[in-house]
Amino acid sequence: MSADVNQTCADGTRFLLDACRRLEVGEELTSILISPSREIQVDLPIRRNDGSIAHFSGYRVQHHNALGPYKGGLRYHPDVNLEELRWLACLMSLKTALVQLPLGGAKGGINCDPHSLSRSELQQLTRYFVRKMHRSLGPNLDIPAPDVGTNQQVMAWIHDEYSVIYGYSPAAVTGKPVLIGGAPGRESETGQGVGIVMHEYAQHRAEQLDEKTVVIQGFGNVGRHAAIDLNARGMRIVAVSDSHGAVCNPEGLSIQDLEQHKDATGSIASFGDAEPISHDALFGIDCDYLVPAALGRDIDAACARRISAAVIVEAANNPMTYEASCVLETRGIAVLPDILANSGGVIVSYFEWVQNLQQMPWTQDRISTELNAKLQDACTRVFAVETGKACGFRAAAYDVAVTRLRDAICTTML
Ligand code: NAD
Repeated sequence: MSADVNQTCADGTRFLLDACRRLEVGEELTSILISPSREIQVDLPIRRNDGSIAHFSGYRVQHHNALGPYKGGLRYHPDVNLEELRWLACLMSLKTALVQLPLGGAKGGINCDPHSLSRSELQQLTRYFVRKMHRSLGPNLDIPAPDVGTNQQVMAWIHDEYSVIYGYSPAAVTGKPVLIGGAPGRESETGQGVGIVMHEYAQHRAEQLDEKTVVIQGFGNVGRHAAIDLNARGMRIVAVSDSHGAVCNPEGLSIQDLEQHKDATGSIASFGDAEPISHDALFGIDCDYLVPAALGRDIDAACARRISAAVIVEAANNPMTYEASCVLETRGIAVLPDILANSGGVIVSYFEWVQNLQQMPWTQDRISTELNAKLQDACTRVFAVETGKACGFRAAAYDVAVTRLRDAICTTML
C-alpha cells in the first residue's frame, strides 16, 4: 500500500510542478506551494463494545492558509495515511483558490473502517479525535467537512464536542444536519456541482447534454447525486459501479430504481434491469462522458488507453495517475479536473460557514443560485485560459489556481 501512496503524492506533485514551471514561479515559491504548513497525527485507542481495544491514528494536514482558514474533508477509511492526505490537502488549497473562496486547504482522517464499527464506537472515536485535535481546529483556523466514510452525523458529533470545549461554535465544522446549522442540500451539492460544470462545458462547446450517455464509477454521496442531477438534465446513465460490482444498460438505467435497490441491499451490484459487468469493463464502455466518483488513482495508464469516453469529469479527488493524464491528453480526450468538477462541495461548505458566522440561514434557492454563479464564474476563467493557451483543462485550472495562491503568498510575505 505505501508504495502506491507515495506514488499518489509524487503524481499529484507532478501536476503542480508542471504548473509552477509554466508560470515560472521559481524554486523557493514552488517548494512553499508543495509543502504543507503543518501536519498533525494523534493516537486514538478506543474500547470497543465487546471490551476489546482498537487502536487508530487520526491525521490533519493543513496545507495553506494564505487565502483564509484551512478547509477540507475528514475521511474515515482503512487506507488513510499522511502521504495521501498531503496531496489531498494541497488539492483543497488549489480548489479554494480556483473558485475564489476566502479559504485555504486541509485534509484529515482516521485509518478506520467505519462500516466495521458500531454507531457508539464511531461516536467515541470521533469525539476523541476532536478532544485530541481541538487546538488546531476552529471557525477561523481549520474547518473540517464530510468526505469518504464520513457524513452529517459525524459532523454533528464534531460540532457538539467542539462546542463543549469552546461554547456554541457551529462555524467550526460544515456538512452538519440542517437542524443544527447545516446548509440545505449540502449532501447533494457536490454531485449537483458536477452537473453544473458539465452543463458549462457543453455550452462552451456549443453542445447539449440532453440524450448524451454517461458512465459513473462510484455510487456514494457524490456519484449518486451526480447521477440524479445528470438524469434530470436528460442524460442517459448507461453504467454505474460501486465497491461491490458494476452494472450496465445501454438503454439507460432508472436512477430512482437504482437508488431504491442500493438502499435496500447496500449495493447496486445485483440490480435487476441491467447486465452485471466487471469493474474493469466499466471504463471501456463507449460513452460521451465518464465520471469517476469513487476513490483515488483508479485510472492508470493502461486503463486510460482503454477508455472510450469523449470527456472525463473528475468528480472524485485525484482519480487518475499522472501517466494516465498524459495518455488521455495524447488521445485527445478532454478531462475536466477535480479541482473544478467537484468544487461544488467546498463552495456550499463555504456558504454554510458564512451562514453560521452570521447566524442567518439561507434558503435552498439562494444556495443553488449562488452555487451556479460561483461555478459559472470559475468555468469561464478556466475555459478562457484553456482557449487562450491552447492547453488542457487541467493545465488551465492549475494555472488559474496557482497564480492566485502564489500572489496571496507573496502578498503576505515581507
Ligand atoms: P462515499 O464513500 O460516499 O462513496 C464512495 C463510492 O465509491 C461508494 O459507492 C463505494 O462503493 C464506491 N467505490 C469504492 N471503491 C470502488 C471501486 N473500486 N470501484 C467502484 N466503486 C468504488 O464517498 P464520496 O463522498 O461520494 O466521495 C467520492 C469521491 O469524491 C472521493 O474522491 C472524495 O474525496 C470526492 N469528493 C467528495 C466530496 C463530498 O462532498 N462528499 C466533495 C468533493 C470531492
